[in-house]
Amino acid sequence: MIVEIISTGTELLLGEILNTNFQYLSQNLNKLGFDILYETTVGDNEKRMEEVLHDAMARADIIITTGGLGPTRGDITKEIVMKVCKKDSYLNPEIWRKIEAYFAKMGIAVPPNNKKQAIVPKDAEILENEAGTALGIWLECNGKTIILLPGPPAEVKDICKKRLWDMLQKKFAGQRIILSRVLHLRGIGESLTAEIIDDLILHQTNPTLAIYARCGETIIRITAKAEDSKIACNMIKNMQEKLTERLEKYIYGVDDESIADVLGRLLLHNNATIAFAESCSGGLASSLLTDIPGSSEYFLGSVVTYTNMAKNKLLKVQQATLDKFGAVSRETACEMAVGVKNLLGSDYGVSVTGNAGPGASEDKEVGLVYIAVASKEAVCCQEHRFSSNRTENKLRIAITALSLAVDEIKSKNTM
Ligand code: AMP
Ligand code: MG
Repeated sequence: MIVEIISTGTELLLGEILNTNFQYLSQNLNKLGFDILYETTVGDNEKRMEEVLHDAMARADIIITTGGLGPTRGDITKEIVMKVCKKDSYLNPEIWRKIEAYFAKMGIAVPPNNKKQAIVPKDAEILENEAGTALGIWLECNGKTIILLPGPPAEVKDICKKRLWDMLQKKFAGQRIILSRVLHLRGIGESLTAEIIDDLILHQTNPTLAIYARCGETIIRITAKAEDSKIACNMIKNMQEKLTERLEKYIYGVDDESIADVLGRLLLHNNATIAFAESCSGGLASSLLTDIPGSSEYFLGSVVTYTNMAKNKLLKVQQATLDKFGAVSRETACEMAVGVKNLLGSDYGVSVTGNAGPGASEDKEVGLVYIAVASKEAVCCQEHRFSSNRTENKLRIAITALSLAVDEIKSKNTM
């Protein structure tokens, strides 16, 4: 079943709001086994919306629109669909009563233009919206299914979860299902990954493989299509095994698992604690680790030591070290890691010091960062260079700090 999603709203084309409805709809429809082959975004313009609908009806079996079901003149989706499908309409008294009740509950009089929302195409099914006043509508036209959803994301989710997913599954039962699994890799780029599994990519049909880069890591997505989820899971498992054979040392997580999850699991497993001393990452590494529920079991705390004075006072980095090598140096990073480990009495101390950009400092190049991990036995330090903008650099630096901690703990323990 080919699906086209039409997102309506001039604000989308202006880039004022992100099209999160498309992401939500496509993620869920893919899971249900529908092929989302087209997505079109069109402004609130009669002529262009009509064109887009004609195109969609020529190439898709199911067309889902979002937006433009509100009470104002700019909300035209329903009217255009009725025009294209040559459907008459009527005022549905039951819906009108519900709209009146909705406003009464909020203690305001119904604005007269809300009557527009109780107008329904003949022969259409109504998809009740418990989160707002715009109804969803399901109608059939020339052998195609057309589904109209409102714009506000909470309303889209309300209708989909409570009604639409069930209705689609019932109507299009017997569809094959699609399952995906995502493998997270670090320490290897997109192109080298592609090279290592080139033959698998070349011969892919089902499951299919996709490689892409995101925030300093490489991601492989395995997607399988099958009659049921058990068969799809097996197909994915077989492919995952083949990929793991070749890329094991780079794969650190599956699906939603982040590097912070991996670090947390590792610390718990080894009954170890950790503390952070962050400079250019501004506390982000600590923040990522504390996103994990239960991180208080192993995360003792952190200090953000942005100035030389703070590094010296709080972490006991020697003034002579700062004077001789500078804040952005291997020597300072090592003393920071040891300093925070001693300060908080943790098993591991992780430090980050560098220049996140865009301006250079201390005559050190932009993007130069030192990350150190101190354990009971030793301190190790890595030099890195980051080349994105400041915000992106900070995230990459924080993730790299968590990665280095993972490597260090793994090298000292089993798991
Ligand atoms: P509308 O029903 O077209 O008037 O849309 C109402 C509001 O819903 C818009 O102002 C946006 O804030 C939101 N909205 C509409 N379309 C989308 C979309 N595709 N993704 C996310 N939010 C949306
Ligand atoms: Mg709109």
